[in-house]
Amino acid sequence: MLEVRGLSKSFGGFRAVSEVSFAVAEGQIAAVIGPNGAGKSTLFNLITGHLAPTSGQVLLDGRDIAGFPPHRICGMGIGRSFQHANIFPKLTVIENMRAALLVHGGQGRNFWSRSDALYREESLALLRSIGLAEQAKAIAGTLSYGNQKQLELGIALASDPKILLLDEPTAGMSASETHEAIALLGRIAHERGLTLLFTEHDMEVVFSIAQKIAVLHQGRIIADGAPEAVRTDAEVRRVYLGEGHRHAARA
Ligand code: ADP
Ligand code: MG
Repeated sequence: MLEVRGLSKSFGGFRAVSEVSFAVAEGQIAAVIGPNGAGKSTLFNLITGHLAPTSGQVLLDGRDIAGFPPHRICGMGIGRSFQHANIFPKLTVIENMRAALLVHGGQGRNFWSRSDALYREESLALLRSIGLAEQAKAIAGTLSYGNQKQLELGIALASDPKILLLDEPTAGMSASETHEAIALLGRIAHERGLTLLFTEHDMEVVFSIAQKIAVLHQGRIIADGAPEAVRTDAEVRRVYLGEGHRHAARA
């Protein structure tokens, strides 16, 4: 469904993403992992059109979409969420959901003049599926960080993507929030037959749901394959053991 070929991005003389190639099949749950600064967010921004590649291709169902603007790529079925929660903090949870559905339905300009009924059922259904129905009337900015990230996932699902890209969906979460978030992602991907590509810097977090893992280090793919093969890969272990003291220091 999604394939990148020889994708590179330079910032001045610095190559943040270098000759990256990998593919995600329809219905697959795939992860790109790598230490901080490896190029994960840059790679996602290249796929979603938030950055234009220096060279290489991004193929969606075989069609090269590299360099297309983000709204066009979103309209073609690539949804995303960002590394930091991206919600309207002063609106209620259900208003956030309705806004996302209205924008996707092409009625964003009429949001404030429409009755509450518009997209109410759809909003509630989405909130139920992400486990936030009980907080529908809460002000989004008052939710726990984990719940705000759940809401962000719902907002990304409102565009009904074929493939969803999530940039560090568990960033900043406690261990129990991380566990719940990963379980929720797995369930939603399964229920909707969604193709999922997500980034993560913690190698252990991904193993519970990823069916395929690509490891990025200094802008390059150093391993790509089934979780067990990646986990035991000598270079991957070297990169992560070298990072070990930094992760320990942060935790
Ligand atoms: P990751 O998401 O894996 O932590 P990033 O993709 O954010 O890594 O960053 C990869 C490298 O590219 C880092 O060294 C970062 O400082 C650099 N970088 C990212 N964006 C820019 C930019 N707009 N200009 C210059 N350097 C950048
Ligand atoms: Mg990042």
